[in-house]
Amino acid sequence: MKNNQVTVLLNSGTTIPIMGFGTFSSMNDRKETKQAVHMALQMGYRHFDTARIYGSEPAVGEALTEAIHGQMIDREDTFLTSKLWSSDHHDPLSALNQTLKKLGMEYVDMYLVHWPVKLKPWATYAVPKEDDFESGLGLETTWAAMEKCLDMGLCRSIGVSNFSSNKIQHLLDFASVPPALNQVEMHPTWRQRKLIEVCGDHNIHVSAYSPLGGPGNAWGSTAVVDHPIIRSIALKHHATPAQVALSWGLSKGASVIVKSFNEQRMKENLGALDLRLDDQDLLSIEKMEERKIMRGEFLVNGTTSPYKTIQDLWDDEI
Ligand code: NAP
Repeated sequence: MKNNQVTVLLNSGTTIPIMGFGTFSSMNDRKETKQAVHMALQMGYRHFDTARIYGSEPAVGEALTEAIHGQMIDREDTFLTSKLWSSDHHDPLSALNQTLKKLGMEYVDMYLVHWPVKLKPWATYAVPKEDDFESGLGLETTWAAMEKCLDMGLCRSIGVSNFSSNKIQHLLDFASVPPALNQVEMHPTWRQRKLIEVCGDHNIHVSAYSPLGGPGNAWGSTAVVDHPIIRSIALKHHATPAQVALSWGLSKGASVIVKSFNEQRMKENLGALDLRLDDQDLLSIEKMEERKIMRGEFLVNGTTSPYKTIQDLWDDEI
């Protein structure tokens, strides 16, 4: 097995490669995304992350299908995640079927509830307006439909994203199938200590998005890769700040979903698999000030959203 296909076993019985490749880009250029996925496959990435709302499903699907037909990869050796957008909570089965159609795939390896919020069916855009919110969360119904998708073989595992510890506990109260994974923001300045503990107690894998802090994204920040502590650890190990950030996420048992469409940075990020941070490095990172970057303000309002404040959305874990 190649080093960059190190995997962990999920509670669903499937394995997930710990180095994931993110495909959200604000440009959403189909050609560029497809080319990046092709390059990533050649380098050895085998875990790809997309979502209906990213618009990258067709490009990711095309690149993977070409690689499978060209016998470069086996579908079975590739891990593909997509996500249920909040306006699709009414009908996850149809949403997943549409996702599969866009991907040109018979199944996804992981299907995630993207956010713990239910929007009206017409709200198919990223930033909902006041009229777009459903009053309740309806998570029991949504999760039952996710379980049905699993039963039907349209996905190999189901999970959630952007769920606080409380929301995980609540979901476990009624789930017949527990989530296999919770994909959340996680990096050296947003370390998710409590969530990792709670998910660990229930054998739920944590997957780290924006593991570099999303530098260059509209909501992103360079605070992680430019942080003097991260830079000094990088210098000590003859590594780069990005490798230090990724290696930190891996050291916590998480998989990391890093996005780069740049050949050199894609290779650099894979290099994190060869970096081992020592106890001193980990202690220094523990001392860094924390600040969540993706705060989810767009899902909060004082009138129609079930979340009146940011604290409501994250159950005070912010
Ligand atoms: P990220 O991976 O932390 O950062 C990506 C940014 O960092 C890009 O601008 C990229 O630019 C740059 N970059 C990549 N490698 C670098 C390196 N070695 N050195 C310096 N800069 C580097 O954050 P993200 O894009 O927010 O998150 C990654 C993926 O997680 C997304 O693509 C998506 O699949 C997923 N995600 C999920 C959620 C969710 O709600 N579930 C939310 C956000 C993201 P270049 O492309 O130019 O290299």
